[in-house]
Amino acid sequence: MYSVGDCPVCPGAGPLLVLLTSDRSKAIYFCPFCETAWCSHPGNEVNEIKSLDAHAPEGVVPPSWHDLKVRGIERLVVKEVPYGDWQDELDRILGGPEALAET
Ligand SMILES: [Zn+2]
Repeated sequence: MYSVGDCPVCPGAGPLLVLLTSDRSKAIYFCPFCETAWCSHPGNEVNEIKSLDAHAPEGVVPPSWHDLKVRGIERLVVKEVPYGDWQDELDRILGGPEALAET
């Protein structure tokens, strides 16, 4: 999983992970700790707090590095986060580690 930094809502506690909507049309930034989601990189501003469902009612999928590159998001990535670090939270939103193998 790719992180673009700390979540602005709970800095230090949650990473801001990049996900894609299930139709791969949009990138979603999601914090598995506080479960806040953004449809653009929130930076340090917290103007809007929405749930993942609000941004991606059809669900989300994990992006591959290629997915990030074609969207120019790879420049924002600061680190890779092992799936296992947030396994419980990610299993719930992604449908398990099998989802990763498909990318
Ligand atoms: Zn957070």
